[in-house]
Amino acid sequence: MKSIALVAHDGKKAELLAWVQQHAGFFKEKQLYATGTTGRLISEALQLSVHCLASGPLGGDQQIGALIAEQKIDWLVFFWDPLSSQPHDPDVKALIRLAVVWNIPVACNTATADFIVHSTLLQEDYQRSVPDFAAYLGRATG
Ligand code: PGA
Repeated sequence: MKSIALVAHDGKKAELLAWVQQHAGFFKEKQLYATGTTGRLISEALQLSVHCLASGPLGGDQQIGALIAEQKIDWLVFFWDPLSSQPHDPDVKALIRLAVVWNIPVACNTATADFIVHSTLLQEDYQRSVPDFAAYLGRATG
């Protein structure tokens, strides 16, 4: 079963909720993770089981980043708010960075999320390539 992580900043929560509701059927057969408030809102609105982590500013973004590094997340839906600054901005950047490091699909707006949710790759047993960091880990130091 595919695992999807969902995060929305306060200014984007209504947008994410509306988008998830629009695709409610799709989310029924997925393992869902979310930052605290986002997850609570989604589970209440859709009656879905969501593994709620800490609230984003209290470490939730970092928890999702850790799950990505452990290869436990297949897709990140991260509606970050481009019009407001966040107290946990370093965590926001770190989460996006880890998604890129581990080659996880990331949707930061509804258009991208629409493209992914309608992708034919979702019907297939798509295996994303997991980067091999052996050379990086074996690099000379000092
Ligand atoms: P929240 O966190 O879902 O707990 O509001 C989201 C965030 O700001 O990263």
